[in-house]
Amino acid sequence: PLTPPPTEETQPPSPEATTDPTTPDLKPGRRELDRLAGLVRAPREGRRPLEVRSPLTGEVLGVVPEGTREDVEAAVASARAVQAAWARTSTRERAGILGRYQTLVLDHQDELLDLLQAENGKARGSAFEEVADTVLNCQYYARNVGKFLRDKPRRTALPGLVRAWERHVPKGVVGLIAPWNYPLALSIGDGLPALMAGNALVLKPDSQTPYTTLRAFELLEEAGLPRGLAQVVTGPGSVVGQAIIELTDYVMFTGSTATGRRVAAQAGERLIGCSAELGGKNPMIIAADVDLDRAVRGAVAACFSNTGQLCISIERIYVERPIVEEFTARFADAVSALRLGGGQDYDSDVGSLISQDQLDKITAHIADAEAKGAKAVAGGHARPDLGPFFHEPTVLTGVTPDMDVHSDETFGPLVSIYPVDTLDEAVDRANDTDYGLNASIYIDDVRRGRRLAERVMAGTVNVNDGYQSAWAATGSPMGGMKASGLGRRHGREGLLKYTESQTIAVRSALAEKLQGGDTPAETASRLTALLRSAKHLPF
Ligand code: NAD
Repeated sequence: PLTPPPTEETQPPSPEATTDPTTPDLKPGRRELDRLAGLVRAPREGRRPLEVRSPLTGEVLGVVPEGTREDVEAAVASARAVQAAWARTSTRERAGILGRYQTLVLDHQDELLDLLQAENGKARGSAFEEVADTVLNCQYYARNVGKFLRDKPRRTALPGLVRAWERHVPKGVVGLIAPWNYPLALSIGDGLPALMAGNALVLKPDSQTPYTTLRAFELLEEAGLPRGLAQVVTGPGSVVGQAIIELTDYVMFTGSTATGRRVAAQAGERLIGCSAELGGKNPMIIAADVDLDRAVRGAVAACFSNTGQLCISIERIYVERPIVEEFTARFADAVSALRLGGGQDYDSDVGSLISQDQLDKITAHIADAEAKGAKAVAGGHARPDLGPFFHEPTVLTGVTPDMDVHSDETFGPLVSIYPVDTLDEAVDRANDTDYGLNASIYIDDVRRGRRLAERVMAGTVNVNDGYQSAWAATGSPMGGMKASGLGRRHGREGLLKYTESQTIAVRSALAEKLQGGDTPAETASRLTALLRSAKHLPF
């Protein structure tokens, strides 16, 4: 359970105190992190060192090179040189690499979980979700890549006489710009279908979380990915991210809506494709007929997994009025019982926020809401006694549209509860947002739940779950409507977006004879006869 917030007597520890000798050492040690930094496609000499700090303690974990435009140029050039041969490999061979990679990820999961916790601060259970996600994606794409990329015969104007095939050709070098909140799933994880489609990959992890990506990249090479096909360059978005947009053939971006708009505009200038997985202000609807225990459990997981730093986490809950009081009381109790902590084990439910910026955002949202009359019925405080960026999972009631938290994404462990008179009102309010990423409906009448779900303008809608069911449905596309993004990950679309569609058509001599007349008028008359008869053909 949450230990009481610090009082005036128990002053929050100073930054020095967080690195005192009693702080348990984080795994892995400095030597291993320095080794991983050596995998970055940028020389250590002549590059400024980028410090990576652990949010759990505030201490420096290690340094990675601050990459430059020249480093991205070199990475793209060598990736491109390897890609041509890779594009000629069979899909069976590529799927074999995914199969071995998924085994390696499971075998090395403790190492990956330690890295994820050390650099991101998340609870171990949330870190494990990244491992599970990677394995599900590997299984799905290993099984389906052959089917998706096989040339498919397509109908032509003269069936049998003209034949056509739809093909999918790799884009070339895919640029991937990743966020810090899921350093395994949303970096290398999003690169897997790009590689399976026959592309090379140049990846920029977020500067706060480079190590998990580097270890995952190393495991992928160990699984058999040709050396040089994937390259990781660390450095700021304004330099390395920009160079990736300028030099690659397709951009997969995950991050904030503000940056996503810029990335999409720049990709548009170059006429290259891009996929942008952006922010959300995701709603949950709770119907009066619901099993309250189930709804409470679901809401806790949906709001506070990954310390709420999850693009699809729930930040608004609309509850039918007859049960709002009971739901709020039970939910507040369950949230207050969550274990907050930063151990590299499964003993905590909620971890740290990643940075001071994230802590400032949630603190500002709560202060603004409380100043305007909202009430925190659970949590409400920062917890510097646990680490520099810990914050209690918090539940607000009495939130009104003039408060920042009403419509702005917090991207932290903060949720607001709103009573509604009908489910129709709940759907209208759920849709009253610029975003459209994820939504959830808790309801006993599942048929009604599905009909309501169809009216919610979000890329994924979970009935009787918060986010996991739709996310883990790897065969079905996942992404945002409205300001939540462009394009989709997962499913057929999540792989084919990394390809150019190509049609190859072959005309027979007989087709040429049938189509062509001696004069334009004769040609038109023959084609008219052919077009009339086409309607009656059985195929
Ligand atoms: P961010 O946009 O600040 O950064 C994301 C990445 O873009 C980082 O690697 C960063 O270095 C890079 N970047 C920053 N400026 C850039 C520029 N001008 N050009 C190129 N690259 C640039 O996002 P963030 O704050 O790190 O991530 C949190 C946001 O991401 C939240 O809004 C969250 O909802 C969203 N998110 C969305 C999804 C999704 O799948 N829809 C998943 C995770 C996070």
